[in-house]
Amino acid sequence: MKTTGYAAQSSDAHMVPYHFERRDLRDNDVAIEILYSGICHSDLHTVNGDWGPQAYPLVPGHEIIGQVIEVGPAVKNYKVGDKVGVGCMVDSCQECDQCQGHEEQFCRAGMTPTYGAPDRISGEITQGGYSKHIVVREEFVVRVPNALDMAKAAPILCAGITTYSPLRSWDVKEGTRVGVIGLGGLGHMAVKLAVAMGAEVTVISRSDDKEQDAKAIGAKGILVSKDDDAMAAAGSSFDFILDTVPVKHDVSIYTPLLDVNGSLVIVGQVGPMDEFMTWPLISGRRRVAGSLIGGIKETQEVLDFCAEHNIHPECKMIKPSEVNDAFSHLEKGDVAYRFVMDMTQLSVE
Ligand code: NAP
Ligand code: ZN
Repeated sequence: MKTTGYAAQSSDAHMVPYHFERRDLRDNDVAIEILYSGICHSDLHTVNGDWGPQAYPLVPGHEIIGQVIEVGPAVKNYKVGDKVGVGCMVDSCQECDQCQGHEEQFCRAGMTPTYGAPDRISGEITQGGYSKHIVVREEFVVRVPNALDMAKAAPILCAGITTYSPLRSWDVKEGTRVGVIGLGGLGHMAVKLAVAMGAEVTVISRSDDKEQDAKAIGAKGILVSKDDDAMAAAGSSFDFILDTVPVKHDVSIYTPLLDVNGSLVIVGQVGPMDEFMTWPLISGRRRVAGSLIGGIKETQEVLDFCAEHNIHPECKMIKPSEVNDAFSHLEKGDVAYRFVMDMTQLSVE
């Protein structure tokens, strides 16, 4: 199938129109017309080569919402016209303990990311959602509940699941004192989800510029990480902190905010971090951990959770032709709070 989209041709992060082919449907494949595509900071890291050399042309995008336009003969759960989503993975071995336990993101043989990785069967490099169509095996397709607005659901497929999964794994519930570092794409979803779970949520941000926004989505308020007095006063006052900062940073300014036995879970920076002080960990049995997206079953769960609690990401809708502008805003941390491309407006010459 011929399709079009936007691709990076090198690590200069400049996206250009691109024509390419999607594979012919395998027996268990679903072909999807993409209607909306979210822009994650990971897309920018990947095209920039921040996580190592990439194969170009590279079509990013792993927050995909669309409708089914064709199914392979063995597809059981989807039919033409269904409203569906695709997130950060498109394949895994399906046999190891992690896949069997619905945590395909930790597949022992390695999951296949939605873009920039060899397809398990053909070896062709996968291409993501900044495009008109995608073909994905049905096990990696999720259903968009009717109660969700299709135009606003895309960020749930990455920002939503990446924050929902650790909130669930660390048993965040009624009364849990949660801190969210960085009010961006992931951070604002973390706030909405944790509030819906009954937690008491504070945003930990570099300034108080986003205070109104944080309160509007249910946070108690903002703790300014650059205000040493406020940070000292907030010592030992959180049970759980989710760290979404997208660059190398010092976690030692945040770990003393945890109460005894508290955990700080890093989902933002992928790669080296500044040296950190062990004393706050040792002196309070505090933990620093990490978390990677979430499994497909859990991705369906977060979509259903958002539908049930009427949670929609704060989306700034743009045309695909505005993608480069969106990348510059993302680079500067100037996003309120997720760019989503309306792919029906994709017109590539
Ligand atoms: P984003 O929209 O750019 O938000 C990041 C937020 O972090 C910003 O809004 C800002 O919040 C804060 N921030 C930015 N630069 C900072 C700095 N130098 N120091 C301290 N805080 C800073 O990015 P995103 O899309 O949410 O993604 C966040 C990170 O998560 C990225 O690195 C992405 O690759 C990663 N990610 C990981 C996974 C996973 O599975 N673990 C999945 C998806 C994304 P304030 O203005 O409030 O300070
Ligand atoms: Zn992402």
